[in-house]
This record gives sequence, C-alpha cells and structure tokens, in this order.
Amino acid sequence: MIDVIGGGFAGCEAAWIAARLGAQVRLWEMRPAKPTPAHKTGLLAELVCSNSFKSSNRHSPAGQLKWEMEQLGSLMIPTALKHQVPGGEALCVDREAFASEMTAAIASHPRIELIRKEWTGADTDHPVVVATGPLSSDAISRWIETRTGSGRLFFFDAVSPTVTAESVDFCLAWEQDRYDKGDGSYVNCPMNREEYDAFVSALVSAERSTPHLESETRYFEGCMPIEVIAQRGRDSLRFGNFKPVGLTNPHTGGRAYAVLQLRQENAQKSLYSMVACQTTLKWSEQKRVFRMVPGLQNAEFVRYGVMHRNTYLDSPRLLDARLRLRDSQTFFAGQITGVEGYVESGATGILAGLFACVSDEIPPPPRECALGSLIAHVTNTDSPDYAPMNINWGLFPDPGTLGDKSVRREAKLRAATEAFLKWRETLPLP
Ligand SMILES: Cc1cc2nc3c(=O)[nH]c(=O)nc-3n(C[C@H](O)[C@H](O)[C@H](O)COP(=O)(O)OP(=O)(O)OC[C@H]3O[C@@H](n4cnc5c(N)ncnc54)[C@H](O)[C@@H]3O)c2cc1C
Repeated sequence: MIDVIGGGFAGCEAAWIAARLGAQVRLWEMRPAKPTPAHKTGLLAELVCSNSFKSSNRHSPAGQLKWEMEQLGSLMIPTALKHQVPGGEALCVDREAFASEMTAAIASHPRIELIRKEWTGADTDHPVVVATGPLSSDAISRWIETRTGSGRLFFFDAVSPTVTAESVDFCLAWEQDRYDKGDGSYVNCPMNREEYDAFVSALVSAERSTPHLESETRYFEGCMPIEVIAQRGRDSLRFGNFKPVGLTNPHTGGRAYAVLQLRQENAQKSLYSMVACQTTLKWSEQKRVFRMVPGLQNAEFVRYGVMHRNTYLDSPRLLDARLRLRDSQTFFAGQITGVEGYVESGATGILAGLFACVSDEIPPPPRECALGSLIAHVTNTDSPDYAPMNINWGLFPDPGTLGDKSVRREAKLRAATEAFLKWRETLPLP
C-alpha cells in the first residue's frame, strides 16, 4: 500500500509507476471540494498556466528528460503526445483533453483508488509520497513543518535570474570576492556611469509581469524586486546591491562605477545567479535589460527571476537521492522538492513512486542523465539559497570533452543516454 498525496503531474506519475510495480495505491486529491488559488477544474494533472511541456527536440535538456520518462513508462508524456496541438518545437497540448485523459487513466486503474479529499497528515506504516505542489494546502504544510522542522519549508519564491557560466564574457567580467574575502565564488560585471544610467532607466521602465496570484504583489522588505529598489532613487542600487567597493577590475586596474555580482550556483561552476536581482519583469524584458550589463551581453538565461507564492522544501538539507525524507518512509515529489515545471515535476514523481516501491539496492539515477541531474539539483548543498529550477544544460555534468558549446552539449547528451540505459536495466520494470 502506498499513499500518494496530490493529483498533479508528480502525484499522477508516482501513482502510475507504483501501480505498474504492483502496489496498491491511494491517490488523494482535494479538488474540486477544496480548490487552490490557481487551478480551475477538478481534473487531475491540470496545467495551471501555459499549455507547453517545452521542447520535444531530443537534442535539448527538456527533450532528453521527456525521453527518459518515456523509457520508464510515463503516463503524462504519451498522453501529451496524443493531445498535442501545434507549438513549433515545443510539445503543446489541448489542456482539457490532456487532463481529462490523465484523470480517466488514473481513475480506471484497478490498483489505484482515487480519493477526493484533502489529506491533512497521518502516521502510516507504509510509504507516503507527498506531491502537493506549489499551492499545498495549509493543513499539509503544517504537517510537513512538524516532520521537517521549522524554517525548512518555504512559501515564497523570490529568485534572481540564473545564467550559464559559458555565456558570461570574461573579457569584461572577472572573478573576485569583495575585499578578496571568500572562496572565489563571485563574478563581477562592471558598469561605468553611462552604462549604469542606461541600465537603471531600462529597468524602471521595463514591462512587468501580471501577477498570477494576489499574494504575489506583497513583498517582504528584505527581498524587494530590483526594479522597485531602482525606482527609489537613481543611486539606490549603486549604494546598495551594486556597490563597487572592495573590487578591482583587472581589465582596467580601477574601480567600476557600479558592479552587478554573480554568485556561483553549483560546485562545477557552470551556473551563476545574479545577486539580489529578484524581479517581477517579464521574461523577455529581463533578457533585454540584464543583457545591457557588460559581461552579460550574450547571457544565456536558464532561469528567469520570479516572485510568487511557491511552497517548496529545503530539499538539499532534508532529502536523500531517492527523494526520501531521511530515516523515514515519506517521499516527496514535484515542485515541492524544488524542481520547477510540469515535466520536471512529473519526472520526480516517477522517481519517488519508483523508490517508494523498490528496495534500497536499486541505485538512484546516475548523475550524467537528465533525471540524475535533477536529483543533483535537489540534493545540491553548495548553494546557500536553494531555489527551484527547470532542467537545463548547466545541471548536466561536464563530460570533459573539448570543443565548442554544441560539441560539448552533444557529448553531455551521449553520456546521459548511455548512463540512463545502463541504469534502466537495473530496474524491475516491465
Ligand atoms: C500560478 C502558477 C503558474 C504556473 N505556470 C507554469 C507554467 O506555465 N509552466 C510550467 O511548467 N509550470 C508552471 N507552474 C508551476 C506548475 O504549477 C508546476 O510545475 C506543476 O504543476 C507542479 O506539479 P506538482 O505535481 O508538483 O503540483 P500540482 O500540479 O500543483 O499538483 C498538486 C496537487 O496537490 C493538490 N493538493 C494540495 N494540497 C493537498 C492536500 N493536502 N491533500 C490533497 N491534495 C492536495 C492540489 O490540489 C494539486 O492538484 C505554475 C505554478 C503556478 C502556481
């Protein structure tokens, strides 16, 4: 017996694989009796916003992830392909048809009992997979906090954009910690007076996103959007987050007028996040405005800044590589673990459902593959500010191949596929 809590992408995938492995599953979904602020129907696996499952190109991180999910018997990927609508390279779906078929598949499975009720927490003698998503109900959030300790469940996402290291121009930027105190985890992007003025003007006049939820418009003083800080005065950034003190530009030998700092996101230094640049700007505007900063003119964004309600765990300090709360039978899956997106959530649902059913002798997915890269993010203790993330090139390990970006990326995917297929052979799946 397994209880799966939450009938979103992660919960449906967890229930599906557990049932395929022969487990008796109870899937708890509180909608429609208890709605969330974003869902509009009582259907399982509802897409609350865009209808895209991102790229289906096999030569992309999202394409590789979907392929790995299919190899494990995913329910959502074949269902999405069946209800695909035109979307260029992206796998876009007819949301109503997709969610209706997902609901029917789960409801009619002989080993899955669909319980339409809020789960408020309980001690069980069998595994529980918690997949209650970014809008987890208050009752289960309280239960999770009692299990994990206070301060280990976050309710608000105020995240700065993240870029790949290989897209930063080090002819203009440089590595240095302020006053050289630290372990070299910062990269500095300098601005002269004209560049700073142009950046601030663009920032304050850029188009902002329409908040999805009412709560998004309430900011904590400690994490104001950068555009709101800039609005308070021309120099507010320069005397605040962008102060140039303690930094010497090795390209000029002098001090910059203002400095946007990037902070290392992972041990392999493949990703950097912009320090204190949480923002509500539209994604296209973030790209345009932050690319005005010298060193970031070709920046490749793997994650844009957001500020919205989002319930997620401090997973690196709580979960093991099988997505299990240490020393327990409680597994977590989906956005609540700190992955982001429909597909990434479904992918971790497959893993949590699998590990809730199989013995500990089955290893977690290898680091090289897309699933292993997601697990590496979820258990990444290098980043002090754990933030949710989509699958992206920077999460895959460097294969050590020489060559340009496209050659290295192809090598990443080859290594991912090889490692995944070997791991797949160890699984007791039909
Ligand atoms: C406003 C908004 C817009 C978004 N836009 C996008 C987007 O465009 N593209 C994208 O990829 N991602 C988007 N996301 C993120 C997206 O919601 C998640 O990536 C994805 O839905 C997470 O899947 P999940 O299974 O973890 O959670 P969900 O899909 O949210 O599923 C969780 C389920 O748990 C249920 N539940 C909660 N608490 C309980 C309880 N105590 N008992 C029983 N059931 C419970 C909920 O009703 C829900 O059905 C958005 C999120 C929000 C909030």
